[in-house]
Amino acid sequence: MKIAIIGAGYGGMSAAYDLRQAGHEVIIFESANFVGGLAAGFKEPHWDWSVEKFYHHWFQSDSSMMGMIEELGLRDKVIFPRPLTVMLYKDNWYPFDSILNALRFPGLGFGINKIRFGFVGLFLRITNNWKALEKETADAWMMKWAGKKVYEQMWKPLLIGKFGPFYKDVNMAWMWARIKARTTRLGTFTGGFQKFADLFAEKLREMGVEIRLGANVKFIKQNQAGGMSIDAGGAVESFDKVLVTTSPNLMAKLCPDLPENYLKGLLELKSMGAVVMVLSLTQQLSKEGYYWFNLPKDAGFPMLALVEHTNFVPKEHFGGDHIVYAGDYLEAGHKYFSMSDDQLLEQFIPAFKKFNPAFERTWVKKVWVNKTNYAQPVPLVNHSKNIPAIQTPIHGLYFASMSQVYPWDRGTNFAVEIGRRAARIMLG
Ligand SMILES: Cc1cc2nc3c(=O)[nH]c(=O)nc-3n(C[C@H](O)[C@H](O)[C@H](O)COP(=O)(O)OP(=O)(O)OC[C@H]3O[C@@H](n4cnc5c(N)ncnc54)[C@H](O)[C@@H]3O)c2cc1C
Repeated sequence: MKIAIIGAGYGGMSAAYDLRQAGHEVIIFESANFVGGLAAGFKEPHWDWSVEKFYHHWFQSDSSMMGMIEELGLRDKVIFPRPLTVMLYKDNWYPFDSILNALRFPGLGFGINKIRFGFVGLFLRITNNWKALEKETADAWMMKWAGKKVYEQMWKPLLIGKFGPFYKDVNMAWMWARIKARTTRLGTFTGGFQKFADLFAEKLREMGVEIRLGANVKFIKQNQAGGMSIDAGGAVESFDKVLVTTSPNLMAKLCPDLPENYLKGLLELKSMGAVVMVLSLTQQLSKEGYYWFNLPKDAGFPMLALVEHTNFVPKEHFGGDHIVYAGDYLEAGHKYFSMSDDQLLEQFIPAFKKFNPAFERTWVKKVWVNKTNYAQPVPLVNHSKNIPAIQTPIHGLYFASMSQVYPWDRGTNFAVEIGRRAARIMLG
């Protein structure tokens, strides 16, 4: 078969790997000039490692990703340091990256709340019955089982931060997946995620996969010969099968011929966007060496998370620069999407003194702002019924995106899993 894949993110590259190994001709169309998709990175000339445009790390439980890395012969390039994640309580930061640290967290008080927190955490780790959990919202479930104090202190800020106005609508299976599939140690690739994406693409090319960068697909149509036609700006090309790995919205635009029901399903899926600023600083921001600051929305910070990357990966890889991310998950149309980089910096800068009172504006060397409308799918109650099938109603057309990895939360690990699942279905 001659197969086209739209998108050279981890979903598209993983599908290409298996389809090529099965002996088919595979061409990847990628609109950007680089591979890696949402997990891509960039590099200053004096840096040895790249920095991800949107903060990224792996968990030790990311078995699909680790499996793929193993197959590519790159396992020795993966490292799993143990950076510190902290949570705010009454103007102080407390470690919050293990059950033990969570139990020590003063925000829960003593006695019954800690016990409820512990039992709820344990239950969610043990149970596999996410189907029962998706019937209720996380808001209602947590209020009932964890109690008001635990929910409002620990879980509600997370829901509000990730889902803003939709926080009360998100189902409990999302929270289950988050607690189930995460570890304290966080992983990255020697050289950064972009290095890994480039090595993956190099391997695909060696295997005979063609990767066309800067190839923006404009439409996909069924042709009279029973195949699929693709227009990527040049001559229209014909394929036996096509796999699309973009957002559901883009998929609907690319293939308007999809039956009404499938199109409606795509367009009804909700998601949040993200705006993330990357700063290079002359000094370390967190004197304590914290990596990830969880920031409750009601604490008045202009961002949801502050992440000091160089407290995870040594600054020596970045020519001595200290790398900090400040980011938020936002609804499309939020003012941050239309602000200039300078305006956004003005918005964020006053908060930096809260992480280090000595912070001065002169510490900022350079700023990059990355924005995406499609960053985090929003799973509503009984969401499993809303997931579009990988095999679309059009013969030869397939779709695999972040919105379909449910009940798991989006992540590069699940992009690999769904890419390989899509390849199996296409081969089947
Ligand atoms: C803020 C943020 C933080 C994250 N943190 C983590 C993390 O810590 N760990 C983790 O594992 N994951 C994280 N993720 C999620 C992770 O980035 C995604 O789950 C994963 O990259 C999705 O891969 P994909 O292949 O499904 O899609 P994408 O990476 O989105 O790939 C789709 C590709 O299609 C291309 N494309 C789109 N339209 C066209 C077109 N018309 N023609 C040709 N090409 C097109 C795009 O350019 C893109 O390269 C994070 C994401 C965000 C936004």
